[in-house]
Amino acid sequence: MKRSAPPTNASISPPPVKRKVESTTTNKAVASFFKPTSQKEPEKLIWRTVNNSLIVGRYNVPNVPPQTRTLPVKVAAFDLDDTIIVPNTGSKWARSATSWKWWDSSVPGRLKQLYEDGYLVVVISNQGNISLKDNSKSLQRDTASLNNLKQQIGSIFRQLDFPLTIYAATDQDRYRKPRVGMWQELLEDYELLAEGAVDMASSFYVGDAAGREKTDKRRKDHATSDRDLAANIGIKFWTPEEFFRNESTEEYEHVFEPAKFLDDASSANGTKKDFVTSPFTKQGTQELVIFCGSPGAGKSTFYWDVLQPLGFERVNQDILKTMNPEKRDMLPGIAFKSFVQRFQEPTLKEGFEEIYEVDFEFKGSEEQKKVWSRYWVSKYST
Ligand SMILES: [Mg+2]
Repeated sequence: MKRSAPPTNASISPPPVKRKVESTTTNKAVASFFKPTSQKEPEKLIWRTVNNSLIVGRYNVPNVPPQTRTLPVKVAAFDLDDTIIVPNTGSKWARSATSWKWWDSSVPGRLKQLYEDGYLVVVISNQGNISLKDNSKSLQRDTASLNNLKQQIGSIFRQLDFPLTIYAATDQDRYRKPRVGMWQELLEDYELLAEGAVDMASSFYVGDAAGREKTDKRRKDHATSDRDLAANIGIKFWTPEEFFRNESTEEYEHVFEPAKFLDDASSANGTKKDFVTSPFTKQGTQELVIFCGSPGAGKSTFYWDVLQPLGFERVNQDILKTMNPEKRDMLPGIAFKSFVQRFQEPTLKEGFEEIYEVDFEFKGSEEQKKVWSRYWVSKYST
């Protein structure tokens, strides 16, 4: 086909540059495509997603004798970014097969040694920048962010080259660290759900989100989610410095310790303030009680336990249909934050007849108590 002559004003455009189009299809991949299934080398890294939220990549090494792992299993779990690897480019977010290096030169050797010592080695990572949402232009194809992660993990795991699995949470849900959804998925995958199947005393988690303050060597940690995850699971926690560089353990005290409130509530029973001894009573036929308390403080419980038997009706946002807090799976952090910001302690001067202060008291089974005692949110967790 003949090209027509360029228009006369074409000189204002730069001359066309020949670009080499790099194909992502290799000769090997083409050869593999035409190979009968029986002759194909099995894919080492298998990906799947759970609930359109959690990404799991399991790396298998064929033709290697299975690990001699006996029950109870010791789990060695690691965070990914700033723990196993760091970016080797200026941009923290430019994730690719070549944009990383080991956090410390000792990392690959230590991980391999753990595997040889019989540990189940896994990576547990929050990847909030990855979107699993369908891209209408490329149906059935990974989003660029997911593809980049897969490329990078492929290159990391191939260098380590022993069986290991990554769990990556992409959403603000039960999988996200410090919540334990990824750990539970791991237990299911490796058939470790039975009581005592995991050697909890020897298992551990290593991560850099440890809530540490700034030092002359280090920036302030961006979150506490790694430390909190280990506490929620009930296993030992190490920072990368402690684990890979044998630096001494830094003391750390949680700013917010949910379990402490259980102790306070039970030890205060019967010994504190008037409200404990003088029960709430109904004063007249027309009476309005206003609750002030953060989400989850027990306002509804107090209504059902105390006010409903006295004949009070209840009005809340659920009934008014403005919000449905009690039908939600998970309250957003903003619900608590906005309570703290807007709460003004009521005073009698405002015209209230009486102000009752009711201390928080946990009600529930031992199992529920364990769930309640976990760290559910970590500041700035990503
Ligand atoms: Mg990290």
